[in-house]
Formats: sequence, C-alpha cells, structure tokens
Amino acid sequence: MANIRIIGAGLAGSECAFALAQRGHKVELCEMRPVKSTPAHATSNLAELVCSNSFRSSSPTNAVGLLKKEMLLLGSLVIRCGEEARVPAGDAFAVDRDRFSAAITRAIENEPNITVRRGEVTSLDRGEFDFLVVATGPLTSDPLFDAINEFLGRDGLYFYDAIAPIVSADSLDLSKLYWKSRYGKGTATDYLNAPMTREQYEAFVAALLSAELFAPHDFEQAVHFEGCLPVEEIASRGIETLRYGPMKPVGLEHPETGMRPHAVVQLRKEDLSDEYFNLVGFQTKMRVPEQKRVIQMIPGLENVSFARFGSMHRNTFINGPKHLRPTFQTKRDDRIFFAGQITGVEGYVESAAVGLLVARYIDDPTPLPYHTALGALGRHVAESSPDRYQPSNVTWALIEDVIGRARKIDKREKQVARAIETIESLDCGGYAAAFKSAAKALA
Ligand SMILES: Cc1cc2nc3c(=O)[nH]c(=O)nc-3n(C[C@H](O)[C@H](O)[C@H](O)COP(=O)(O)OP(=O)(O)OC[C@H]3O[C@@H](n4cnc5c(N)ncnc54)[C@H](O)[C@@H]3O)c2cc1C
Repeated sequence: MANIRIIGAGLAGSECAFALAQRGHKVELCEMRPVKSTPAHATSNLAELVCSNSFRSSSPTNAVGLLKKEMLLLGSLVIRCGEEARVPAGDAFAVDRDRFSAAITRAIENEPNITVRRGEVTSLDRGEFDFLVVATGPLTSDPLFDAINEFLGRDGLYFYDAIAPIVSADSLDLSKLYWKSRYGKGTATDYLNAPMTREQYEAFVAALLSAELFAPHDFEQAVHFEGCLPVEEIASRGIETLRYGPMKPVGLEHPETGMRPHAVVQLRKEDLSDEYFNLVGFQTKMRVPEQKRVIQMIPGLENVSFARFGSMHRNTFINGPKHLRPTFQTKRDDRIFFAGQITGVEGYVESAAVGLLVARYIDDPTPLPYHTALGALGRHVAESSPDRYQPSNVTWALIEDVIGRARKIDKREKQVARAIETIESLDCGGYAAAFKSAAKALA
C-alpha cells in the first residue's frame, strides 16, 4: 500500500482521499483553511461549496447526470453525501451546503487511513510520499501557484479563464452561413461564417451593450487582459471596435458572390467533435438568458442550442494537454498528479469526479474509455488543443460518440446505457458494490 499526500481538501481532494483510503492506502490530506483562507471560502469544512448549492441536472440523459451516475457506481463520497443532504429542487440535484460539507468532513475525519493536516503547503516536494496529488482548486494560494509554475517550466499555468459559448451543429441554419478560413488559409471547413449587414451589426452591438452581466466577485475585478476581453467590453469601446476585432470581415468575402459582409461572426469546430462549434472571440460575462437572446440574433443562429455557455472568471488552471496525461499524471513526473478544477475541468461535480479518477489511476493508470462521462474528462484534459485550452464542464461534446447517427433522444439513451455498462464492468474494489443500489435510485 502507498503513502500519498494530497494538497487541498476541497471537492477533488476529499473525494480522492476517501477513495484511496477505502483501497487501503495511507493518506495525508493537507488543507490550509482555517489557518489561511481563500477569497471565496467561509468555513473550515472540507469540500465547502463556495457558491451555488447545486450539482446541476439529475436527468440521466444530461451529461452531468450521467457523470453523477458513473461516480456513484464507483463509490463516490461526494455524491453519497450529496444524496444525504439533498433538498427538493425539481430536476436539479441541490444540497443543503452545511449538511453536505459536514457529512464529508465527518466521513474523512472518521477514516483511519486519512490524517488531516491543517496548514498551507508551499512546495511540490514529494518528500517521503510515494505519490503527490495537487487539488488546490481555482483559488490556489500564491506561494503554491509559484511552485506549480516553476514545476511546469513557467509555461501553461493560468489564473483566469475566458470561455466562449459552444453551440451544436445541428441547430445551425447552414443556408445563412458559409465555410471559409480567413484569406483561404488552413482547411476550407475549419470555420463557418455568419455574415451581417450594417443594420444587423448595429442592432447586435446595441443588444450586447444592453445585456445584463454577471456581477464579478471582488477578487475578480482586475481580471481582464487586452488580448482576451469580453465581447461586450469590446463593443463598449465604440460602434466599430468589434469590426476591427473578433467580427472583422476582411479576408472573409463570400465564396460565391465575392462580396465582403459588413461584419462576420466566425464559428470554429470544437476539436473533440464535429458536432459542435465555438464562437470565436465571444468570451462573455453576459448572464445565460442574455447570451441566448443576443447570440440568437446572429444570422443562422436563430434557433441555436447551446452545449456550453460563455463565462469569464478567476480560475487557476494548468494547460492540461501540455502537461497532463489522460490519467491526470504530470508528464514531468508520473508520481505527481493534479486533480479537480486546476486540471481544466469546471464545476463541483467534475472536480470531485477527477479526484475519484485520480484515486483509481494511482492503482491502475489505464484511462477509462472516452465514451464514459468520467473517461471524457481525461480526454478533454489530455487531448484538447493546447493552443486553445479552456476549462470545461462535462458536455456531450466531450463524450466520444460510439453510437453514430440516430435521433438525438434515442442516441442519448444508447450512449448512457453503453457508458453505464462500461462502468459497471470495471473492477472497482468491493466497496463500490455498496453504492450500486443508490445509483439505481438516482436513475
Ligand atoms: C468564486 C467561485 C464560485 C464558484 N461557483 C461554482 C458553482 O456555483 N457551481 C459549480 O459547480 N462550481 C463553481 N465553482 C467552480 C468549482 O467547481 C469549485 O470551485 C470547486 O470547489 C472546485 O473543486 P476543487 O476541489 O478543485 O477546489 P476547491 O473545492 O476550491 O478545493 C481546493 C482546496 O485547496 C485549498 N488550498 C488552496 N491552496 C492551498 C495550499 N497552498 N495548501 C493547502 N490547501 C490549499 C483550499 O482552501 C480549498 O479547500 C466556483 C469557483 C469559484 C472560484
């Protein structure tokens, strides 16, 4: 049995520690709170939920619903305590946050194989431990941020994210769009273009300027960089500014008419699937209903459905494809793993899921198949384009399609059945069997 140090007892660190302890390993779980806190945490509880109290949809045909089911099958402490603390919220899996993190804290503190050490860790030195797991989350403390930066060769550690919306290809009106890369460079089918007339452009800018935005947390006020401004911020700098930025029409003349549109929105294929496109340069702080309203004004996107909404916030994360394997081991040292949001997944459930995966991969570094929601997280982290890497929730865009063409609802049901069958067939240690009935209840 191994000796493992985990830094950070949030969603990922707690999940990982518990799963390792159940497998008989000895774990030192280091948490800096309450000795030192983050700008968002308010208690000394382990696995504190810093904002909403929701684990999102519990519908099994929703990607995060599937992820929770898979986690439960593998014995997830987070989902089990979530069930215990669950409060009514329709389709959403919402929890009483105090009961939830108290239950996690109790389970960890009662686990003889885990020692909880309170205090900030400032180095990635593995010392006498066989493995090190870094699970310090989006608000990793500054000294450790510097240590991680050094470890990664000062290349590929970020402290904020800027996410553009992703839309599904089958909801686009292709009759209004055309394929073209700027100046004809690259492959002809890399980009779809949505051309706008002057009137459409001006109405669009007006809608952007009137859209309601997310209020940033105090510690996020200074997060904008000139190279990556929110689209509404660019629009606020003048009516023409977007036409010289992400909506520049130059080099995008219509392939049939040769006419240059007044402005263009470019949609780029997501690299993990041909089924989804992201809106280039459209990182945004607009609230979700506003993103729908404004983006549906773009010609060809009137009925668009969103696989992921845009966002921008303070977020420490590493460039996964550059530095991590699909097992979340670092390429530099197989015995140092990253887990949770810092790997470039997004959300409470996804962060905990990576903790669970890392516990498994410490024993058996064989990545789970990419057609499972759990395996898809490793796929995202290790196989996305390193040049455009941004954090992501689990979505169907990340989960490998092994079903092929079918009606969407039938397809999802088949994908779910296939993923569950795969997870159920895994050797996951005796303790997981205890949770199978709970998993059925969640279904
Ligand atoms: C302000 C904010 C709001 C968010 N809201 C939501 C939301 O509503 N819904 C959602 O799904 N996701 C949300 N997220 C995203 C994310 O899913 C959560 O932050 C989630 O808690 C991440 O899990 P984690 O285990 O990776 O990190 P965390 O849960 O943050 O755990 C990391 C732990 O590491 C500790 N730590 C940090 N540095 C050190 C150090 N040097 N030494 C020792 N310990 C250290 C921290 O104190 C913390 O306990 C939010 C993120 C932020 C920043």
